[in-house]
Amino acid sequence: MNNHVTVLEIDGKALEHNLTYFKQKLKPETKILAVVKAFGYGSDSVEIAKFLEEKVDYFAVAFAAEGIALREAGIEAPILVLHPQVQTLQSIVDYRLEPNLYGFKVFDAFLKLADETPLMNYPIHLKFNTGLNRLGFWHTDIPKILSDLKETNHVKVQSLFSHLAASEDLEERDFTINQINNFAYIAQQFYKHLSYKPMLHILNTSGVVNYAEAQFDMVRIGIGLYGFGNDEKVTSTLKNTHNLTSIITQIHLIEPGETVGYNRAFVAKKPIKSATIPVGHADGISRRLGNKKGFVIINNQKAKIIGNVCMDMIMVDVTKIDCKEGDKVIIFNNQEMIQHIATVSETIVYETLTAISQRVKKVLNK
Ligand SMILES: *Cc1c(COP(=O)(O)O)cnc(C)c1O
Repeated sequence: MNNHVTVLEIDGKALEHNLTYFKQKLKPETKILAVVKAFGYGSDSVEIAKFLEEKVDYFAVAFAAEGIALREAGIEAPILVLHPQVQTLQSIVDYRLEPNLYGFKVFDAFLKLADETPLMNYPIHLKFNTGLNRLGFWHTDIPKILSDLKETNHVKVQSLFSHLAASEDLEERDFTINQINNFAYIAQQFYKHLSYKPMLHILNTSGVVNYAEAQFDMVRIGIGLYGFGNDEKVTSTLKNTHNLTSIITQIHLIEPGETVGYNRAFVAKKPIKSATIPVGHADGISRRLGNKKGFVIINNQKAKIIGNVCMDMIMVDVTKIDCKEGDKVIIFNNQEMIQHIATVSETIVYETLTAISQRVKKVLNK
């Protein structure tokens, strides 16, 4: 049981609002895959999946263990494992997860496993590289894949997919359109030679925002569900889902000349009042937020972080704030605050959200 006072409250209503926003951008028949990898972008993949299970068609996780956690929590919906390893294929089958087979090493290993078990029409997904150059078969692999598939009824291609390299960047429009066209061509080859039609999908959140015409049969939404559209206008129509709060553990009165925190990084020039809050870099608060670069909200007022961010704590300046030990502290509760933290931390909101550590208590409010 996690009884930590630093809590990430996940806003279920906001999650639902965001899902509806994307549904409205899509044809009614287009399926939705909710990406819940990395603990639901730093929140709680089990709670998110339970909440969304009746509202979406598919879930995706990066690694097998993440899918196993969902199954062990009772999630029954199909779960795509985006990045399986040969070592985890058996557990993928044991937990009825659906592997992305992205190259011959993992494809051959899975066909062998399917043959030996034996499995019958086991759903697999084939990923094609169309320019991200990260994971995926190359289009020249198609003849070999097709001939291997012809010889087996142990697996069935549930979907063919690809991933865009720059869907949020309209200056890369030509590159993206080319990726989409290449993917459509790859899909055609399969449709020509298979007796059935696997689902097709290529769009992530920004893909839906900028290239909805390429929605094919399904879209894979991650960051958008959690309130960010990689575009200010879209983000402003989405609702924030991740709210990080804590409490003031202790208040100190600091005399001029005294210092606060490690390396004595903050030096008081006048008498100040500091508050210690139990959240630190081990919880995902970057050290870059120290020394007045970051702030929290206490009783509706900004309190700047003074000195260095510690592993388990930060100290903030509450000289001008009427507050006491035990008062609530908002570390972030809207998209602007999260974006500010990301910017100051010299990163993107994806990293800021997924950095929230397992030590933080998670609660989903319906
Ligand atoms: C993480 C991921 C997504 C989700 O991307 P967002 O930008 O968060 O919507 C979709 N597809 C793949 C293959 C991914 O790895």
